[in-house]
Amino acid sequence: MSEFDFDLFVIGAGSGGVRAARMAAATGMRVAVVEDRYMGGTCVNVGCVPKKLFVYASSYSETFEDATAFGWQGQGGAQFAWPTLRDNNAKEITRLNGIYRKLLGNAGVTVIDGRGKLTGRQQVTVGDTQYSAERILVATGGWPYVPEFPGSEHVITSNEVFSLEVFPKRVLVVGGGYIAVEFAGIFAGLGAETHLSYRRDLFLRGFDNDIRHFVRDEIEKKSVQLHFHHQVSSIEKAPDGSLRVQDSDGNVLEVDAVLYATGRKPNTRGLGLEELGVVLQKDGTIGIDDNFRSSVTSIYALGDVTGGPELTPVALAEAMALVKHWQTGKTAEIDYNNIPTAVFCQPNIGTVGLSEEEARQAGISVAIYRSDFRAMRHSVSGRDERTLMKLVVDTSNDRVIGAHMVGPDAGEIIQGIAVAMKAGATKSVFDQTIGIHPTAAEEFVTMR
Ligand code: FAD
Ligand code: NDP
Repeated sequence: MSEFDFDLFVIGAGSGGVRAARMAAATGMRVAVVEDRYMGGTCVNVGCVPKKLFVYASSYSETFEDATAFGWQGQGGAQFAWPTLRDNNAKEITRLNGIYRKLLGNAGVTVIDGRGKLTGRQQVTVGDTQYSAERILVATGGWPYVPEFPGSEHVITSNEVFSLEVFPKRVLVVGGGYIAVEFAGIFAGLGAETHLSYRRDLFLRGFDNDIRHFVRDEIEKKSVQLHFHHQVSSIEKAPDGSLRVQDSDGNVLEVDAVLYATGRKPNTRGLGLEELGVVLQKDGTIGIDDNFRSSVTSIYALGDVTGGPELTPVALAEAMALVKHWQTGKTAEIDYNNIPTAVFCQPNIGTVGLSEEEARQAGISVAIYRSDFRAMRHSVSGRDERTLMKLVVDTSNDRVIGAHMVGPDAGEIIQGIAVAMKAGATKSVFDQTIGIHPTAAEEFVTMR
């Protein structure tokens, strides 16, 4: 008999925690997971899933408009009903919550509802109950960060945006990362007067510069009002509920909602980590070694709480690498190079590998292949939307080291390109590949 209640105790049933718990249980470990908020974590409840559903919702306004040129009539008077979207989204999430709970139960994982706190190096307390475990995995994710300023209590974050009582007709989105550009597109597509405020010259810092400029132009065409070099200094709430947003130049903008998308902070507060000697990094994330082990040997961490790329597939890959490490005793195998990602702005961004700037900064001699075109659909619809595709090639060995796209379904297309890049594909291999016609994706194999 083990001296512990469990072999593994996971805190947080999000993307990483659920995957680690299920995989570990499948190897015969006795596993418990504690969750205090929602099964499935950020991705399922207030992240990837609802966001993608809202992106779909917002795309219909253009679909209705474009359909006219293809002979469809009668959709001119289409009305958007926010409560229908909000409630159908909530229903879908409840369904997914149930599926996650069932998956854990079927895997033999003990699911505990409540807030977990580390009260010993091999002990977690939930409410009045203490559980002992040989290993503890902290997979508590992150939480939206909002800077403090006069009136910051009036803003919403991605945590609240999916369940608003009333659809805001005028919205200011603050930030220049994934969430800000995605939600600017969502609100504009759903018909809101949409403003985006970013503190520097151009949003999406870190993405390929061509992509950033192209996206700026495309987003502007969709009537999103971009305010760059813009800093909110205060927000006042008027008696009618509207918000008066003052910027650092003294200009005032009146809106119905202000969404802050200014990054996320790790969920480490009140977990009891520091008391046990777990070393946190400057930004509050948990410091871990190559095998996801913290400075305390029995305590592990993965996912957003560790400060790596904040993406669900990364948390899943880390969970699988960790369980394999426990199984085999070998160093966890995970490759953080060439992680593909999509930003579901409209049109989407898909990207993998190095930007042109990163490649040049690394001293790589690069050849750039670029295609900027109007998708076939829009030659009939008349919509002024363009697609951009770009390959960054290392001239020393002909390897494709970066692939970037702005256009419909960019995420779907870049996923396949990422496989090719992982396999070390050269530009000649791209050139030898026969295209699928007529698609946008074929441009990736026809650029010369
Ligand atoms: P989480 O999924 O955040 O899970 C942590 C869990 O721990 C939560 O359920 C939390 O309630 C629980 N918890 C915390 N503290 C405790 C405690 N003390 N006791 C018990 N439980 C606790 N990624 C993508 O790849 N694609 C996307 O399209 C995408 N879209 C996103 C959109 C938005 C709006 C946001 C906010 C994020 C998005 N992400 C996306 C990022 C993705 O959601 C995260 O990277 C992923 O969820 C991280 O998984 P995790 O397991 O580390 O943490
Ligand atoms: P990001 O880190 O991507 O972006 C944060 C933005 O807020 C940056 O533009 C940053 O500006 C700005 N900012 C930070 N602090 C302030 C401040 N005090 N005042 C004004 N602006 C500020 O965070 P997000 O919140 O957009 O998303 C969090 C993470 O979630 C993402 O990084 C991503 O990993 C993940 N995610 C993934 C998605 C996907 O895969 N499609 C979708 C949504 C989220 P600056 O550039 O100057 O630093």
